[in-house]
Amino acid sequence: MIFYQNYNIMKQEEINFKDNKDKFLGGYIKTMNILVINCGSSSLKYQLIDMSNESVLAKGLAERIGIEGSRIKHEPTGKDKVLIEKDMPDHKAALEIVTNALVDGEIGSIASMDEISAVGHRVVHGGEKFSASVIIDENVMKGIEECINIAPLHNPPNIMGIRACQELMPNVPMVAVFDTAFHQTMPEDSYIYALPYELYEKYKIRRYGAHGTSHKYVAYRTAELLGKDLSELKLITCHLGNGASIAAIKNGKVVDTSMGFTPLEGLIMGTRCGDIDPAIVPFIMEKENLTPSEVSDLLNKKSGVLGISGVSSDFRDIEDAMAAGNHRAKLSLEIFNNAVVKYIGSYAAIMDGVDAIIFTAGLGENSKEAREEICKYFTYLGVELDLEANDMRGKERVVSTENSKVKVMVVPTNEELMIARDTLGLVK
Ligand code: ADP
Repeated sequence: MIFYQNYNIMKQEEINFKDNKDKFLGGYIKTMNILVINCGSSSLKYQLIDMSNESVLAKGLAERIGIEGSRIKHEPTGKDKVLIEKDMPDHKAALEIVTNALVDGEIGSIASMDEISAVGHRVVHGGEKFSASVIIDENVMKGIEECINIAPLHNPPNIMGIRACQELMPNVPMVAVFDTAFHQTMPEDSYIYALPYELYEKYKIRRYGAHGTSHKYVAYRTAELLGKDLSELKLITCHLGNGASIAAIKNGKVVDTSMGFTPLEGLIMGTRCGDIDPAIVPFIMEKENLTPSEVSDLLNKKSGVLGISGVSSDFRDIEDAMAAGNHRAKLSLEIFNNAVVKYIGSYAAIMDGVDAIIFTAGLGENSKEAREEICKYFTYLGVELDLEANDMRGKERVVSTENSKVKVMVVPTNEELMIARDTLGLVK
């Protein structure tokens, strides 16, 4: 084994998984371990969480599935990280290596697969069918398949991941946790677009929102930290990462959210344009001679702060370029901040007030500058940022002063834990 970029590399020929039983007091231990799976088209993220204390036993990422050079970055808690280089033609092959790694005598975390009580799957789109997490059966699979229509890029890999797990762990209960489910509480007047109503009836074109699992985790955690019941709070949760969305949560229910029929709507993001005049779309298509999929690519992958700045989709690069005097980088950040401010302001209005504004995800958790810039627009609501408390990264905390009428908080998101909690709740 050699060491590379913090990972011990295991070459294909070195992999010889042996199970871990001998090390664990000789045998079967009934545990509360939940395996959380999040499948992309060529990736598989996983976390094994011990729910007796919500600690992560191991986590990792299988990359380049079905592509040459596939590998798994496996991180067992308390042991060296391992990079496993092995061909993985499909998600089942990846999952086989992941599960072998989890029970391996050297790099594993559990004695045998019997110690996985259930699997929680992240599923991107649950349409109008799923307003909560569910135990997966064939009926549920059919429902997820029906949503492919509105999530053609995301639901198919999620389905592949579930099928692979079902084949490898046929007796383990599986739960689907939908990214759209938390937003299903939105009232009709938030989710219906001002288009001919028949389009909603025919194609289910409406606002669904996304990042629901993150908004839910952050909302519950905020209530816990404030020592209040979620049902008595008005919250605005700001998930500001490469993808960014905001939700207005009143009495535990989402009343509005910035992402729409797809994640393209709302804030400007790393590479997504967010809200624009829809008339621009046919205009660009005509002028640039673009097909629907080409224009979709332009709006989703070449716009946002990347499109405006021409520098990068990564906010750190943008901040660096701005510091070096790049005007378009500065402009892109200003436009991003403006969008966040407009959504927070309008959500405070639709909820008739707000008790707490919460920042999460890469930028929200780490950029004191972004929080400072955004919060200075809300003195009229009584927001008073504590600049010292705000000058920290990635830590759960209140960043407003004692006197601030609205609490401002940083709550690092934990979608995997939310998925594991939902899963445990359903299978217990
Ligand atoms: P996603 O899951 O959508 O990829 P993340 O929540 O991981 O997004 O957030 C990634 C974004 O957060 C990147 O654009 C990155 O630049 C930004 N980010 C992370 N750390 C910082 C920081 N210290 N300052 C500013 N931006 C940051």
